Amino acid sequence: MPELPEVETVVRGLRSTLEGKKIRQFVFLSPHLQQKQPAMALRPQDYRGKRLREIRRRGKMIIFNFEGGCGLLIHLKMTGQLYLADPKQPADKHTHARMTFAGFRPELRFRDIRKFGFVSCLREPDIWQKVNSALGPEPLSVGWPEFWDLIKKHGKKRIKGWLLDQKLVAGIGNIYSDEILFRAGVRPDRPAGSLSRAEARKVFRSIRAVLRRAIELKGSSVSDFVDSTGQKGRFQTEHRVYDREGQPCRRCRLALIQRKKIAGRSSFFCPTCQK
Ligand SMILES: [Zn+2]
Repeated sequence: MPELPEVETVVRGLRSTLEGKKIRQFVFLSPHLQQKQPAMALRPQDYRGKRLREIRRRGKMIIFNFEGGCGLLIHLKMTGQLYLADPKQPADKHTHARMTFAGFRPELRFRDIRKFGFVSCLREPDIWQKVNSALGPEPLSVGWPEFWDLIKKHGKKRIKGWLLDQKLVAGIGNIYSDEILFRAGVRPDRPAGSLSRAEARKVFRSIRAVLRRAIELKGSSVSDFVDSTGQKGRFQTEHRVYDREGQPCRRCRLALIQRKKIAGRSSFFCPTCQK
């Protein structure tokens, strides 16, 4: 599933090309996106002629803001892709929405093989209300005092599950939680509340270091992830533990990476480097 670095990569790519453009047409190509619309949703045709003011990321979600107060809330979930395509290239059966712009040839496509993703047509205030009630602070901007406070308040959760909980910090998923905990030297099955202040501080710093490096390399492409131009990311080449069960640890070179189910997810860690 695309996590913060992948979603940030998509947002940065689209922002530089689409902000300021006017929508010519916006259509859903398959019924499931329409069926998933929340109660107070706008219709795709309401967006015609609207100028795209801003594209932002919040957690793993993408938010489009248009002039006049309408917006889109997009979640890529497992296999969603949001990218610019040449209109000459035929859209396949997994392409569920399409947006074209005035005076700009490429069209924006939402493609999603497993159909868990969504594109919600909502007014901007409704989007922010929804998003802010579902998500905790951003991991790249949360301050240390707030982070430490959240660790202590939700100390019963294992640190792996703690990092995955979008209400605590938003945007971290299975890959980056493992990579963050490896970098911090903390075992994923430790209760968050058992971390010393120094260990929590290491996790806090590792979150920033790992996410920033992953954004720099345009995310991890372990399955379907592509950026806004259809290119794969490169951070998967730097994974230290994720999906490396039974392989020698890249730091100590002695222990083999183990896999354990924690908080319902496969977690990978080095039994020597992580305490
Ligand atoms: Zn190791």
